[in-house]
Amino acid sequence: MAKLALHGAAPVRTKPWPQWPVYDEQDEEALTRVLRSGRWWRFAFGAGLELAEPTEGETSEVARFQQTFARMHGCAYGIATANGTGSLEMGVRAMDWDVGDEVLVPAYTYVASATCALQNNLVPVFVDVHPDTYNIDPARVEEAVTDRTRAIMLVHFGGQLADMDALGEIADRRGLAILEDAAHAHGCSWKGRPAGSFGAWSSFSFQAAKNLTAGEGGILCTNDPGLAEACESLLWSGRRIGRPWYEFHRLGWNYRLTEFQAAILNVQMTRLADQVAHRERMGRYLTERLAPIRGVRPLVRDERMTRHGYHIYMFRYDEEELGLPRARFVEALAAEGIPAFGGYAFPLYRNPMFLDKRFINGAFPLGSAYHEDLDYAAFAQKCPVSERACASEAVWLEQRMFLGSEQDMDDIAEAVARVVENRDALR
Ligand SMILES: *Cc1c(COP(=O)(O)O)cnc(C)c1O
Repeated sequence: MAKLALHGAAPVRTKPWPQWPVYDEQDEEALTRVLRSGRWWRFAFGAGLELAEPTEGETSEVARFQQTFARMHGCAYGIATANGTGSLEMGVRAMDWDVGDEVLVPAYTYVASATCALQNNLVPVFVDVHPDTYNIDPARVEEAVTDRTRAIMLVHFGGQLADMDALGEIADRRGLAILEDAAHAHGCSWKGRPAGSFGAWSSFSFQAAKNLTAGEGGILCTNDPGLAEACESLLWSGRRIGRPWYEFHRLGWNYRLTEFQAAILNVQMTRLADQVAHRERMGRYLTERLAPIRGVRPLVRDERMTRHGYHIYMFRYDEEELGLPRARFVEALAAEGIPAFGGYAFPLYRNPMFLDKRFINGAFPLGSAYHEDLDYAAFAQKCPVSERACASEAVWLEQRMFLGSEQDMDDIAEAVARVVENRDALR
């Protein structure tokens, strides 16, 4: 008798998983309201920028969203953008560093965490992640600092905050800025302090897969009024508040969010806290259920973190112990009704863009002769944890699954246990 769905047994699960995004008539009404208002864009340059509190009678959806989202993340200012890639680029440009300055970036992250430096003629230097959390490893950060390092770009990967105590201490001692790529960390916190409030600025994404979404979108949050003003200017193609409309002071972009997107985000915000709390309960529960299973180890949750976002739930698969390739394991899980995948196939520095150093004008940042001999392939020796996570270890589960019930989590654990027990049949 077949023991695995892959071999014809009844799968552990046939029920569909919760859908993402979640929406109802409120989202529909908000969209219609904007449509009928005829004001489809954020019509007031500089509006809301000086305001930490939502204003009475504020009718711009974008201005209202900026205020509520920023405040929820411990910041006085929020500048909404077309996407998280844009808010990262904008934030880096506003720092005004010198060509060829270095930004430390985890090797295990999405490409935008690094390209925002390159887009501003800065050099991303990759740093390995910690084996228990897949977040940038403070000990490796320390080793990577040079006299050209300006910042640590940290990513709260999967919704688990980076070690803010250790990184804050290093940044203070070495005179580095902290920049937070918080694309996975909406509504998360460390010792009660919100993700997004630790850095010079933080950047969030509202792309379709993220824990708060309008299909696309992003925001930069900060407590620094000078940075907020610089970003507002960059977002409006370099205009300056109080100056003529067609007078441009900085090299910027139009990376603005529309009123339609902000209207959806304002409705989605009313569900965010409950969704985050729910994922948190389910994530913790699944970790308990997976703990006794041989050959799989959930990432370690740092208990200083008071809110985990579980944007990605990750566990570590031990290919050596189980003697079965991860790809085969994931395939068998899928047949049992559990969609899982191995995440990034290789660390960021292995992408052709980095290996060939094909950047602006096909070369390295303008005038950065200093970095001519920088070989991105060489980061493989410095980043064994990221290498292993990509090659064989990481298994990702999507956030929407954690909007389900404890029975849904039981299905995941049962399927993992079943595949592990019957692995010999898969070899
Ligand atoms: C999604 C994401 C971003 C921003 O992506 P956009 O799709 O441009 O909104 C940045 N960093 C990380 C780690 C991400 O996952």
